[in-house]
Amino acid sequence: MSAATLPLLINILVAGMFVASFWTVARINPELGHVRWIAFSYLIGMITPVAELVLPLAPTPIPFMLMSYAGLLTGMVIMAPALALLYGQRANWMTAAVIVVAGLIVRGLIWNGPRNTLWYELAYQLPFAIAAMYSAFVVFRYGAKSGLHRTLAVLFLAIAVHFLLKPLAATTFGSGSTASDYSKSVYATISQASSGVLLIAAGLLVLIITLQMAVAKSQMDATTDPLSGLPNRRALHAAFSRIAIGREKLVAAIAIFDIDNFKRINDTLGHDKGDRVIVAVARCLEENRPANGMIARVGGEEFVLLIPWQNEASALQECDRLRLLVTRLPFQKLDQVTVSAGVTAVIAHEDLSSSLSRADRGLYRAKAAGKNQCVFKQVDQSQVATEPVLRRANR
Ligand code: GH3
Ligand code: MG
Ligand code: MG
Repeated sequence: MSAATLPLLINILVAGMFVASFWTVARINPELGHVRWIAFSYLIGMITPVAELVLPLAPTPIPFMLMSYAGLLTGMVIMAPALALLYGQRANWMTAAVIVVAGLIVRGLIWNGPRNTLWYELAYQLPFAIAAMYSAFVVFRYGAKSGLHRTLAVLFLAIAVHFLLKPLAATTFGSGSTASDYSKSVYATISQASSGVLLIAAGLLVLIITLQMAVAKSQMDATTDPLSGLPNRRALHAAFSRIAIGREKLVAAIAIFDIDNFKRINDTLGHDKGDRVIVAVARCLEENRPANGMIARVGGEEFVLLIPWQNEASALQECDRLRLLVTRLPFQKLDQVTVSAGVTAVIAHEDLSSSLSRADRGLYRAKAAGKNQCVFKQVDQSQVATEPVLRRANR
């Protein structure tokens, strides 16, 4: 067993694990199907250590030398467009192909060149450095401006620099006089181990970023209403829980908006048109809500507004402003769409269902009084006085 055998075996094993990991992520997250390209990048890259292992035993080394070079170069180059796809950008396969072809041409031109000379080794490594720089560029350009993405870009740059430093190591330690001798050289051990460590680090970072995206996507799906794109009841619950722990007695205003006579819209114009009315009202409420408030869709044609508490008059005024804006929405075949709202104050430490049922009582009154209006439902004063005290006693 030559000195480079162990790092080569480790590289095969690790690349195989990356292939399996990225493939699994792509399989269980259909929206992240592009991640298959990252798995593919590692699969192609795996050809290199396999070829290097077989090379000393092969009667004709040339095919394995070619496979070794082309495998790593293609695998590394595919990473850049694969990352662009991960970031939701267009993949520039043309640039990738140009780097691979140019690299293979350079490799062909120096085929019988003098190993262990600086210019030969530099020409050999330059395409790998360019491939790594291409990935660094993609991550810098399209990745989030946050720590993980920035670290990944710097890591790809470090990989590029490392490929540019390899010629120095090759000329210092000697990379073997033939391709078959290479795997027995000290340089092969250094080269395989250092590239292995850096590529594993990059693979792990890409995997973490991919998993982060997968988790963020499923969190988004779990908290978003698919029809309107508004936060759903679960998201409202989370926001409510944060706001309800305030120190004041009254912490927020909460309102339920309900589209008036919606059954009639559905019955006369059809369910599809009904859906479009829901989406238009949702957009109107979302675009015009106060910046520090939230609008959620909590039921068929029911929406909830949650805003920080000021006073009864301003809560009612805010709801009335939104109600008026809805009446001005233009619809084909519909004269006017109106909403009614019940609004109330949220008592500190109260739960969502209790404040919603109070707002609902306001809504009931608004409907009973003729619809297209907002009604404030007062908080029972005894509740305001005792609720926080009881909570504290329970702790
Ligand atoms: P009111 O003015 O008293 O609110 O009368 P309404 O006709 O609006 O009555 P209600 O609020 O009870 O009706 C809600 C209707 O909304 C019943 C249901 O068929 C319909 N609905 C619920 N979800 C959806 C949806 O996602 N899309 C469509 N198009 N209709 C829905
Ligand atoms: Mg309703
Ligand atoms: Mg209704």
